[in-house]
Amino acid sequence: MRKVKFFSKALNEQFEVERIIGEFHGEEDGPVLVFFGGIHGNESSGVVALIQVMDEIKKMNPQIRGSIYAIAGNMNSLEKEQRYEKEDLNRIWTKERIRRIEKGEYELSELNADELEQLELFNIGKEIFAKHAHQVYCIDLHTTSAPTVPFITLNDTLINRDFATKFPVPVIIGIEEFLVGPLLSWVMEIGYPSLAFEAGEHYSKDSVKFHKAFVWLSLVYGGLIDRSDVPDFWKHHLTLAASNSNHGTVMEVFHRKGVTPEEQFKMKPGYANLQSIEKGEKLATNIDGDILSPEEGRVFMPLYQAQGSDGFFLARDVNPIWLKLSASLRKMRFDTVLTWLPGVKRDEREQHTLIVNRTVARFLAVELFHLLGYRTKTRLNDTFRFSKREYDVRGVAQKQ
Ligand SMILES: [Zn+2]
Repeated sequence: MRKVKFFSKALNEQFEVERIIGEFHGEEDGPVLVFFGGIHGNESSGVVALIQVMDEIKKMNPQIRGSIYAIAGNMNSLEKEQRYEKEDLNRIWTKERIRRIEKGEYELSELNADELEQLELFNIGKEIFAKHAHQVYCIDLHTTSAPTVPFITLNDTLINRDFATKFPVPVIIGIEEFLVGPLLSWVMEIGYPSLAFEAGEHYSKDSVKFHKAFVWLSLVYGGLIDRSDVPDFWKHHLTLAASNSNHGTVMEVFHRKGVTPEEQFKMKPGYANLQSIEKGEKLATNIDGDILSPEEGRVFMPLYQAQGSDGFFLARDVNPIWLKLSASLRKMRFDTVLTWLPGVKRDEREQHTLIVNRTVARFLAVELFHLLGYRTKTRLNDTFRFSKREYDVRGVAQKQ
């Protein structure tokens, strides 16, 4: 088994890690939780947290329902203390690449270091998904380059929302509209719910503490370990609760500033994640000059590291009434009503996609589609395609 050594700047300590950090199977069948840490090699916090929690579980030997997996992400880059070698491992899980991997349409010698990591993770994931009849829930642990309160990002499905709002941290939805090929898009394509947890700044000690707390709470909220079997349950809960004053807040990403190395993007120093900003505020510069905020809102994940293609995002608070309304409309399957309109039809091959002709799309607000869980919009000739995740309401309690 391949092992790498890596250094945690946060704890000033060296660790050694294998791809499978830990694996536990209860006698009782039940839910499956899969944790990923270090998908970005410069984010060792999640890996350290997983190593420590897996050790604690081993010592405590609690009763477990279902299965737990903890998996290390970009091992090559973790060892080299870099985000990635050639390509961001969290941006290469596109449908096309997955199709090529599945069909074996690649030469091992042609794959770069990050693609080799992807191949290993893909094979492990496939094995886990095939092995369990129960629902698999994936949790991806990250950190950010700017200081931040801990937060969750997820695809806005009702199952994801129900799980995420149990944690005393803000929840950010809608990022999937702006990201190409994150690991979790593959998981969700298969039909499994998932979320990402950003614990704090890359090298902060608190990030490890928040990651550990999050892993423990996930095991309890996921129904794998009883609350009474986790002696520090309330300590973990309070640790997260004390980290922020945004409990129960749901925010929505509405803008992304993508960057290329050529444009010499530079974020204005001093922004904390989720900090409020005005319309027209100078946020960054590039070779063309100042970059101003197109709207008021909150600056989300500002880029303060050399590698990465997302300069910043903008987010805004979502009204709780909207959340309630959208949950009710989705449970009612209100999207069926939309297909009664002229110019709106369901894709026969992809049940969870609505095809809307351009003229009609002009009159239907994007918000309406968001309300019903249709988040990704692609344009094809004279039509728009709005898609949502298929397990939105019914879930995937049993594999097909
Ligand atoms: Zn990351």
